Amino acid sequence: MKIANSSTSAVSLVKAALGKIEQYNKDYNIFTFINRDAALKKAEEIDKKIKNGEKVGRLAGVPYALKDNFLSKQGETTASANILTGLKSPIDATSVKKLEDEGAIMVARTNLDAFAHGSSTENSFFGPTKNAFAKDRVAGGSSGGSAVAVALDCVEFATGTDTGGSIRQPASFNGVFGIKPTYGTISRYGVVAMASSTDVVGFFAKTASDLDLLMEVTSGLDEKDETSLPDYYGIADTKLEKKKLGFVKEFIESPALNPELKASLENKLSLAKSKGYEIVELSLPALQYALATYYIIQPAEVASNLSRYDGIRYAFRSKDSKTLGDLFSNTRSEGFMRENKRRIMIGNFVLSSGFYDAYFLKAAKARTLIINEFNSAFKKVDAILSPVAPNPAFKLGEKVNDPVSMYLEDVMSVPVNLAGLPAVAFPSGFTSSSPRLPLGLQLIGPRRSDKNLLELVEELI
Ligand code: GLN
Repeated sequence: MKIANSSTSAVSLVKAALGKIEQYNKDYNIFTFINRDAALKKAEEIDKKIKNGEKVGRLAGVPYALKDNFLSKQGETTASANILTGLKSPIDATSVKKLEDEGAIMVARTNLDAFAHGSSTENSFFGPTKNAFAKDRVAGGSSGGSAVAVALDCVEFATGTDTGGSIRQPASFNGVFGIKPTYGTISRYGVVAMASSTDVVGFFAKTASDLDLLMEVTSGLDEKDETSLPDYYGIADTKLEKKKLGFVKEFIESPALNPELKASLENKLSLAKSKGYEIVELSLPALQYALATYYIIQPAEVASNLSRYDGIRYAFRSKDSKTLGDLFSNTRSEGFMRENKRRIMIGNFVLSSGFYDAYFLKAAKARTLIINEFNSAFKKVDAILSPVAPNPAFKLGEKVNDPVSMYLEDVMSVPVNLAGLPAVAFPSGFTSSSPRLPLGLQLIGPRRSDKNLLELVEELI
């Protein structure tokens, strides 16, 4: 990525980014906030340091976009939900602070499905973001704005969160790279919570090596996030050295898999073979339960995490309520989007005393099965190559009124989150007919193999 130095100024990088943002935002609805003045001010300060020969960070002057569910003192943090509009954060998320300390410059915040609930960015209070390759197609979600911002070259990188595919799927729909790190690699402190046991912070960028640098900058233990892990480097036992690459039989044989995506996966497997990898067919039958498991565990955690938005704290409050009860229910009725409410209702149902054993407890057991199956797969292979989603970007409006068909698009991304594994999404060609849409694959590895996965992706592109 372009970093400011004695020949490239931070101001010129930021101005170029702001120009692109203005050029594309009207048509694609990518951003929820543009940070023009503060970004230019920080760029000038960095240029001054460079001129004076002072030390600058590893991301000096690099313009980036922030998914609008990261707390930052700059602008409002809305999570693209009415109920948070107007929220001025007093803190920066740990990941944001680390980026800013290394000199990265937040030029804009990006649109998402409200509270990151969705696979298309159509559930946003601010309206949908359009796909970078076809304006009548979805951007993917929930981090649609971040993916399109990188794809249209508005910024060098963008942040994302991936609870069930929200980095990998929009990355694959827009032809960019995206990393969903091992659960805990980057602190979640200061990120609007969706499902805390699967939420991770990650990135979109134009190359795997840019992702590597971003991981290096942002990973590490954080006393404010008890689930955070020690550093991303120096993890000796995850070296991928068997030179064996797996693919999931149940995915490749699925009738739901788009034929061009299937062909693209087969091509990559042949490429790996020509580079000396042994290709191993894996049968992972427990993955057939992953989607149902995810859509029980995730709404249960969502219902719990969203219970804090009561109209008393945070931003939005419904007007003219007569009683406290009315205030709670009016605020939540007006402030949440339909999809948020659907998940709150499902979550409370699966956690309710009469149904807890039948749904939540059962899902927790199925999750263990899935984890065990991945663990035994990684005794046989270094990494697993898979599509990110069964199809390339679908049409705007095609699935938004049919939640189950939208959820089905997550079938290949959610198993990774349930098991806390790292995965890197990378571009793998285009569909043949017009509009030519990007095809994307993901490489999934054992826990803490993130860095090695990025290296392996470089071999496969
Ligand atoms: N599409 C998935 C969902 O709607 C994942 C969302 C995410 O990763 N934030 O739950």
